[in-house]
Amino acid sequence: MPTTLTTATGGPALAQERRIVTAIPGPRSEELMARKTRAVASAVGTTMPVFAEAAGGGVVVDVDGNSFIDLGSGIAVTGVGNSAPRVVEAVQAQVAAFTHTCFMITPYDSYVEVAEALNRLTPGDHEKRSALFNSGAEAVENAIKVARSYTGKSAVVAFDHAYHGRTNLTMALTAKSMPYKSGFGPFAAEIYRAPMSYPFRDGLSGAEAAKRAISMMEKQIGAANLAAIILEPIQGEGGFIVPAEGFLPALVEWARANDVVFIADEVQTGFARTGDMFASEHEGIVPDIVVTAKGIAGGLPLSAITGRAEILDATHAGGLGGTYGGNPLACAAALAAIETYDEDDLAGAARRIGDTIQARFAEAQRTDPRIGDVRGRGAMIAVEFVDPETNEPDAALTGRIAKACHAEGVIVLTCGTYGNVIRFLPPLSIPEHLLTEGIDIVLTALENA
Ligand SMILES: *Cc1c(COP(=O)(O)O)cnc(C)c1O
Repeated sequence: MPTTLTTATGGPALAQERRIVTAIPGPRSEELMARKTRAVASAVGTTMPVFAEAAGGGVVVDVDGNSFIDLGSGIAVTGVGNSAPRVVEAVQAQVAAFTHTCFMITPYDSYVEVAEALNRLTPGDHEKRSALFNSGAEAVENAIKVARSYTGKSAVVAFDHAYHGRTNLTMALTAKSMPYKSGFGPFAAEIYRAPMSYPFRDGLSGAEAAKRAISMMEKQIGAANLAAIILEPIQGEGGFIVPAEGFLPALVEWARANDVVFIADEVQTGFARTGDMFASEHEGIVPDIVVTAKGIAGGLPLSAITGRAEILDATHAGGLGGTYGGNPLACAAALAAIETYDEDDLAGAARRIGDTIQARFAEAQRTDPRIGDVRGRGAMIAVEFVDPETNEPDAALTGRIAKACHAEGVIVLTCGTYGNVIRFLPPLSIPEHLLTEGIDIVLTALENA
């Protein structure tokens, strides 16, 4: 069992239980929230009104001693669990050895080892290269730089409901205006938006949806001008939209035939989350470039691009890099996290978690028409809430459910273009009894909402 029973330092593990001992938020969290209001830019919001003190396995413990069931993993980051034993040990050893030299000045082996691991683990057995960065958005930016440099073309296609980050170029790629883009323009040029496959709302087959997107690209941009297509194999912030079968392979095939670089943004779907190491595997696609971040390093900031050697090596020497990219602490953490995904069979854990969540909500859907759709793969499952009469998105209901869960000691996240989706992204280290209890609470919240 991938349950964390002891800490790396040999101390007692966090009790794997839901425990509410104060009002939510408790007095110490309230005090800290008042300080946050005075000290932190108000635009930086929080989902929960409580401040964390410790976390591990399947719980987050707050400063008042409340223990929450974690169904969010800090947005799909702590797949191996918080402070996972191997990660703690590796980072402690590295922090005592050296903290930074800058890989571009005096390199170190862990960066190379992470690149080798990514080249091995990502789909396809062609020759690959990787480069490391700090955030998902930064890696996406670099994937676009590389694609433009390789093809000598400039246009980039992103899709409806896409989320690729909050920097200037990635805001342009991201679909949703509020809160990600509104007022922050002008945005980067030569970004185009194609229609996504969204089976629950468009009813199209994968082939039909691909034909629609390809037609848009051919007529509105022209393959001769298109450097890259970037797409999340299962869209994250957009609502865990799983495209209809065949949609992704058709796009990959078209891209290959037209000298267009196909970039899979696996920042949220990567690292065993969907029950495969990468979501592209389930679709049977081999992207030209895979972008990774979130689950890569057990919570330390690290991101990467991994792709065909001829594409990544096409950029001029010195053209890629950054002060902190592939920081040694983050690389040590990544190697330990990757070992954990592998040794603890966390892909298998993700499939079991997914089966449990899917089954419970599919059952509830039979008697509750407010559940419009239950979808996703592995430990990345979403429930879309609708008005049963009209099928219109019900964001207000979704918000009430999330709020009730938070008050009961369960961390759940919402998402979706229409704000009407609850998404489940538990750490893959969550014990079964906490997952079951968490789902019970969400279903009770739905009944009462
Ligand atoms: C979170 C996310 C990003 C951005 O990553 P940051 O580390 O927040 O910059 C990009 N793409 C996808 C699919 C994401 O989920």
